[in-house]
Amino acid sequence: MRSGECVQTERAEACAKKVLDSGEINDWSLEAMFICFRDSFRCVYCGVDLLKDGDFSDGDIFKYFSHFDHLLPKSKYPELKDEKSNMVLSCVPCNRRKRNRDPNKDVNTYILGSGRALEDEERQMFIDVTWNKWLEPLRQKDRVRGSTLKRLVQGCLPERARMLVESDEGQDQSAEAKNGDSSLRKKSA
Ligand SMILES: [Zn+2]
Repeated sequence: MRSGECVQTERAEACAKKVLDSGEINDWSLEAMFICFRDSFRCVYCGVDLLKDGDFSDGDIFKYFSHFDHLLPKSKYPELKDEKSNMVLSCVPCNRRKRNRDPNKDVNTYILGSGRALEDEERQMFIDVTWNKWLEPLRQKDRVRGSTLKRLVQGCLPERARMLVESDEGQDQSAEAKNGDSSLRKKSA
């Protein structure tokens, strides 16, 4: 059932093939490259731009691009384990938070066992359900936890270390959007 595949999918297939045909990249599968193009190299959930914001300083690009999330979890839908229409590009935090939650549970557009490909609009609906129902609330919660941890840790730090943390504080907000830069800075400091 491929009727739902649209221009987005066709273009992604052509782009992925073009990149791999160049011969400059040998360790990517066509399927992985296709998923990255289809999802515009962004986490489908939070929208983080993995090409722009990923930290490639250690040369390990797979650390960022090997996180293909099974939208409908493979534990419950084993027939979709290798179905690329069920695999989406996800950043590490979103992938960890989602775990094996099932966005089809309430919507029920996909019948368990049918083994058909997900249509583009259907996939987007599952993505929206996942983000709104689980990921966005969890992200807020993690932020609160993070600031509590920071307050508690800072209270225990010796004065010199506390000053270092505080001098770094002003850069925190931009660092959140650019994780790669902040980890680099902390390593070299
Ligand atoms: Zn994300």
